[in-house]
Formats: sequence, C-alpha cells, structure tokens
Amino acid sequence: MARRKLIYEGKAKILYEGPEPGTYVQYFKDDATAGNGAKKDVIEGKGVLNNRLSEFFMLGLANIGIPTHFIRRLNMREQLIRQVEIIPLEVIVRNFAAGSMAKRLGMEEGAALPRPIVEFSYKDDKLGDPLVPEEYIIAFGWASQQDMDDIVSMALRVNDFMSGVMYGVGIKLIDFKIEIGRVWDNEFPRLVVADEISPDCCRLWDVETGQKLDKDVFRQDLGNLADAYTEVARRLGVLPSNVTHRPKPTLIN
Ligand code: UDP
Repeated sequence: MARRKLIYEGKAKILYEGPEPGTYVQYFKDDATAGNGAKKDVIEGKGVLNNRLSEFFMLGLANIGIPTHFIRRLNMREQLIRQVEIIPLEVIVRNFAAGSMAKRLGMEEGAALPRPIVEFSYKDDKLGDPLVPEEYIIAFGWASQQDMDDIVSMALRVNDFMSGVMYGVGIKLIDFKIEIGRVWDNEFPRLVVADEISPDCCRLWDVETGQKLDKDVFRQDLGNLADAYTEVARRLGVLPSNVTHRPKPTLIN
C-alpha cells in the first residue's frame, strides 16, 4: 500500500495528506501522555476507542447544526477530515471545578460553578499552554473579536450537547477542551469544531459513584484507561461490536 504523506505528528494523533485537496486523514495512536509529555505510556486500544467516540460526538454536533471538520470514519483508527487553519487556542469549558482551576483557586474538585465558564489557553507545548485572557488573543491577532464571540457561543452549545448526551448515560461532564478551526467557503471564513472530542480531553464522572472515566485515570494512576474509555463507549452504544452489528448466521435445516 502506498504510504500517505505525513503532515504532522502530535502526542495522540498523526495527520496525513488526504485523498482529495482540502482533506487530511487523522490517525488515532494508542499513546497517552500527561503533564505536557512528562508521563507517557501506550494504552492498547485507546486510539480505536477515541476514533469511534470522536466520530460519535462530531456527528452528533453536525446533527444539531454545529459545523465540524469531520467528514467520515475510514477504518478503526483513521477518519477523513477537512483541512482547517487551527486557531492556536485550547477552548476550555467548565461546569464543575477540577484540574488546574481547582488548584489555582483552591477549590474542591467537583464544586459546582455558578455558570459554565469558558477559558482559553495559548497552544504552545514549550510554554505549557498558558491561560490567556481574550484581550491577549485579540491584541496578538490569534482571533478577532467576532471570532471570539462565535467561539464562546459555539463552545457553550457544544457544552449543552455534550452535558446532555453524557447525563443521559449517567455521566457528569465536569469540563472539556475543544479546538476550533477556520475553513474558507468561497472566500467566506467559517469556524468549525476541529481536532477531536474524546475522554482524552474531557473530565467525565459517573453520576452515582463519582468514578472517573477519563484521562485522569491515567494522570492519577487510578486503573486501566482503556477499561474506562470502553465503559464510556459501551454506555453510549458506540462500541465497535454494536456499531458494526450484523445478525449472526443461522442454520438452515
Ligand atoms: N485539556 C486537554 N488538553 C490540554 C489541557 C486540558 O484536553 O492540553 C482538557 C482536560 O482533559 C480537562 C480540561 O481540558 O478536561 C480542563 O483541563 P485543566 O485546565 O484543568 O488542565 P489539567 O488539569 O488537565 O492540566
């Protein structure tokens, strides 16, 4: 098989040139990292689960009218996506205090916030993705004021969608990160949800028990990460065995 041209290799995914202009193939690796690469491991099956889960969430968003970069899943580890200009921000939405916010403000993990909070980190591994105010983003030209208004309303819609879908399967969406890309449709710029949406970039707690079903399982050595992601996929009905369900052959007498 002819190898595809490598465009970019990140910590959890690889981008290859796509089959048509304006497309990429996004490959999900099994690599897990935390603490900006300080902790690393290979979690067998993680890439397959995240490919499926990201497909599920991106299709769901498209179905409620939120544009994404997702075109279609190609196989167990790859999906076809639209080429976008990534806005160099991590857009974080929080419903409950956790992680860096809980630490920064001395809050208890899981404390409810008065309303969803949207915040931005500048995407730069060397700097450790520092939190940046909107003023920096506009002053440095990473995005315009109009873009920021659109990004905040898109992020809050994604939050409502994700919170509802998760709550429906007994999971509380604590926080998550998305990335936004710009595409050009006949000279007109449009913003779309890009990158991935998976338990790698969300905090997901079981509603009843508070059990963590996200990357914190890896960050905090709480058990097997693939088991946690499998549980999320199972509850959402997107395990490979369900998706490719075919009736069993029956004996004809
Ligand atoms: N997050 C992410 N990538 C990052 C940083 C954060 O996907 O580089 C996600 C993280 O999984 C969590 C949310 O964004 O769901 C908020 O993360 P936080 O700022 O609390 O940082 P962390 O504690 O993960 O360092």
